[in-house]
Amino acid sequence: MSQPSNLIATPLRAVERLVQGVATADGAGVRLTRVLTQNLQRRLDPFLMLDAFRNENADDYIGGFPDHPHRGFETVSYMIAGRMRHHDSAGNAGLLGPGGVQWMTAGSGLIHSELPEQEEGLMEGFQLWLNLPARDKMIAPNYRDIPPAAIPEYTTAEGVRVRVIAGASQGVAGAVQRPHTEPLYLDVHLPAGSHFEQAIPPGHNAFAYTYRGAVEIADTTVNDRQMAILANDGGTAVRIAAGEAARVLLIAGRPLGEPIAQYGPFVMNTGEELQQAIRDYQAGLFEAASVQAR
Ligand code: MN
Repeated sequence: MSQPSNLIATPLRAVERLVQGVATADGAGVRLTRVLTQNLQRRLDPFLMLDAFRNENADDYIGGFPDHPHRGFETVSYMIAGRMRHHDSAGNAGLLGPGGVQWMTAGSGLIHSELPEQEEGLMEGFQLWLNLPARDKMIAPNYRDIPPAAIPEYTTAEGVRVRVIAGASQGVAGAVQRPHTEPLYLDVHLPAGSHFEQAIPPGHNAFAYTYRGAVEIADTTVNDRQMAILANDGGTAVRIAAGEAARVLLIAGRPLGEPIAQYGPFVMNTGEELQQAIRDYQAGLFEAASVQAR
């Protein structure tokens, strides 16, 4: 698609394709854009879903996400504006505010609710689903609230602010590290005329999502609210350039290469495991603190 800048020795990843996302509603009528949809799960393994929501009108978020189950993966919620209250069947509760992250490991299963703690004003954020390896799908549920001040960040000489939610960037370790999938999750704020480079192992699947302004990645323009899937072309880094001020999520991880079986909020490896999840849920097992691994 394009040649990397000839002054940089590191081979840079190109953009394979741009994705616009699909407008939908989930929970009790929350309007959102499903950026990473089910048909991209194999291509972007270990990531299963990315939802983006940015609603000014309370009618579009006030219903929130009442009690619902999950099993077999992790949900990562990142709030930009607004507040959401979390409760789950493992006894955890928390309030997610601007700049904060909630990292929830559904594991063997839980029931939780995510409800807005506001009746007006902007509600903006993201929810990413990260798969668990087969051997960890039935681990005990876990939940972690990461307040804004606990997310490591740094600013480059060009004034690029980098919040390191997971993984590592230029020697700064993120708030969360995960074995197996080694997720990288950065929120990058670029001033006008700046650029940012990040190393990404060639075997990892990677994408960028622009949520303010527009950026250039390897001569491809990524507009506001577009996802760029980065090519697995042997490149060892990505270069993001901003003509105008922009904000981008940069997400990458090591693919699991295992079968993916999804039925709504359950993501397992086989249809039989999905049937078991449904039976366990209907039998009320998710209402216990945790479902024992079997
Ligand atoms: Mn949920």
